Amino acid sequence: MIDLDAIRHNVRRLAAAASPAKVMAVVKADAYGHGAVPVARAALEAGASWLGVAHISEALALRAAGIDAPLLAWLHTTESNFGAAVAAGVDIGCSGWELDRIVAAAREQERPARIHLKVDTGLGRNGAALDRWDSLVGEAMEYQDQGLLRVVGIFSHLAVADEPERPETDQQLATFREVLAVAEDAGVDPEVRHLANTPATLSRPDTHFDLVRVGLGIYGLSPFQGQSSAELGLRPAMTLKTVVSQCKEVPEGQGVSYGLRYHTSGRSTLGLIPVGYADGIPRVATGGPVRIAGRTYPVVGRIAMDQMVVDLGDLGPGGAGLLGAEAELFGDGADGGPTADDWAHAAGTINYEIVTRISPRVPRSFINEEDRGVAAGREGGA
Ligand SMILES: *Cc1c(COP(=O)(O)O)cnc(C)c1O
Repeated sequence: MIDLDAIRHNVRRLAAAASPAKVMAVVKADAYGHGAVPVARAALEAGASWLGVAHISEALALRAAGIDAPLLAWLHTTESNFGAAVAAGVDIGCSGWELDRIVAAAREQERPARIHLKVDTGLGRNGAALDRWDSLVGEAMEYQDQGLLRVVGIFSHLAVADEPERPETDQQLATFREVLAVAEDAGVDPEVRHLANTPATLSRPDTHFDLVRVGLGIYGLSPFQGQSSAELGLRPAMTLKTVVSQCKEVPEGQGVSYGLRYHTSGRSTLGLIPVGYADGIPRVATGGPVRIAGRTYPVVGRIAMDQMVVDLGDLGPGGAGLLGAEAELFGDGADGGPTADDWAHAAGTINYEIVTRISPRVPRSFINEEDRGVAAGREGGA
């Protein structure tokens, strides 16, 4: 279940932190598993002015749904359809090798491409290497002079903004300022310069420039170790719940799930939870929390493809009564319930991965689809 009011609340919270910089809502990977189209709409309603995705295919899906906001796609392969991006008015991130292909697409479509030049200021992933920046800017400006493209933006991505005490963010910021100066000297006049992700938006105002690209925060999750969503004024938007699909009494010593790695320590009732790693729950996350009837139980034994088990203890003859009871794996954590952070901890990973991997087999339902705005009284509090 996805709470679109939580998305709107989080966008407003991040927009306030970013102001006067604008907000790009990053909705790649099906909006981190939340549903790209409904999330994109809610984010735009709440004041995001840009959308960002990794792949052109993701951008085209948003356009096909009728979303016409400024939209940037930044990760391409030699198979990417630049022509479709130009035709759909999708802005294209360009690290260098794409430039000639983008220009060919613009010629073919008889329409100038909109590009954002990407520079690698230290992350070591995509983006132009620093020693290529000068020539990339020069080539892009020649094409711009020929009317084949417009350099709309210049951007880079931070490596350690989630660890604010580390010095590399300062170095990346200094490098970014230098490459901006080089570009400006070459005559580039970008509409938007952008560097910050969610952690930098929340902790480093000096990285905001004209636009911040926020993903995790709009889903209400904290990028910082040791700081909760609530402490940041964010509300987790995704709740994952199912029902107890079987409930049975077993004797002491009953082995549970593949490998029989867990045995009951006495007479007990086992509750079957009908989600597993095919639904995106990491197989290594034994011990992760499931809340049933107001109590939280750890998953015992191995997590299987489709199911997992909690040991409900000795419930006596009434134990079977929990058949059909709601079983919540994670939610907004407001009333002390389990969170995506708890599952990340159980799996030895980060909350990004927990929500993003919830598979398409799990039906998404949306609540608060209607924007009732600030007047609805749910705003203004952390
Ligand atoms: C995913 C991504 C973001 C968003 O990062 P968050 O930490 O989720 O805010 C921003 N920029 C780029 C280039 C990304 O790939």
